[in-house]
Amino acid sequence: MVDAHGKSPILAVGSVAFDSIKNPFGEANRVVGGSATYFSLAASFFTDVRLVAVVGEDFAERGAEVFGGRSIDTSGLQVMPGETFRWKGVYGFDLNQRETIYTKLNVFEDFQPVISEEWRTSPFVFLGNIHPKLQLDVLDQVESPKLVAADTMNLWIENTPDDLAKVLERIDILIINDSEARELSRESNLVKAARTLRAMGPATVVIKRGEHGVLTTTSRDGEFFTAPALPLEEVFDPTGAGDTFAGGFVGYLAACGNTHDSSLARAIIYGSTLASFAVEDFSIDRLLRLEQREVDERFRLFKRMTHFDEV
Ligand code: AMP
Repeated sequence: MVDAHGKSPILAVGSVAFDSIKNPFGEANRVVGGSATYFSLAASFFTDVRLVAVVGEDFAERGAEVFGGRSIDTSGLQVMPGETFRWKGVYGFDLNQRETIYTKLNVFEDFQPVISEEWRTSPFVFLGNIHPKLQLDVLDQVESPKLVAADTMNLWIENTPDDLAKVLERIDILIINDSEARELSRESNLVKAARTLRAMGPATVVIKRGEHGVLTTTSRDGEFFTAPALPLEEVFDPTGAGDTFAGGFVGYLAACGNTHDSSLARAIIYGSTLASFAVEDFSIDRLLRLEQREVDERFRLFKRMTHFDEV
């Protein structure tokens, strides 16, 4: 189903969380986070998002504050008795490295994603970073989507490799960070890692490299498209940058409706643009203040920054 403007909606599943974050510049406790939260906020700049996730009763009115007034349909956000998923991460001066202090699944422990009849035919599907079994549950319910993109993390690579392998066989695009790409492929070289990951299933592999930008395979075998990250002076909190990137990236693809190499390249830049805002403040605060005009301006800045003439 495509809307009147030719944009396809995205079915997005992932975590909605309370995060606690500590880095050399400050600390934030029990702030809103989660892979599906960052993804949905970013993707909603491009198209309609159908959010599938779970929160506890303690999330209360936060849902309306975060998702209200945007192109995000929260009718798939289940509220269950108990506490919302919680995660705590600590960063040192190298913001590309972080330590997870705890992961408390809470209501995620008994979460069963239920996709409504209408949402089962969603043309674009994003499987955010959650247990691969839950990602498979969603895949079992959707009917021949045009594109499925997924993210994952070291926890699942190490603890549930068989389930993750099944997910990889059923997706079109894997969005993964560099250390996880190395761990999953057992290759230290990212070019080789991308090739190995493609052989596991996804036709396209997008490797996020934090402040070093993004590397993606293209349809021409052995060719890559790469983009730097914006050289920002103020980087406050990189939490959620990867999910925000994924939101801008999949959001743009769903809005333009195809995955030609030229669209893929623009989607990478839109993803990088959205991520560059997310890191400017703690939690989702910068995304909540973000305006379309700023997105367009920064997209053009990316073009200027990477353009050069042959002679
Ligand atoms: P990113 O920085 O893009 O990797 O995403 C960080 C977000 O992922 C945080 O807001 C966390 O709440 C969420 N997160 C961390 N660990 C997990 C996990 N095991 N399952 C689901 N979400 C997680």
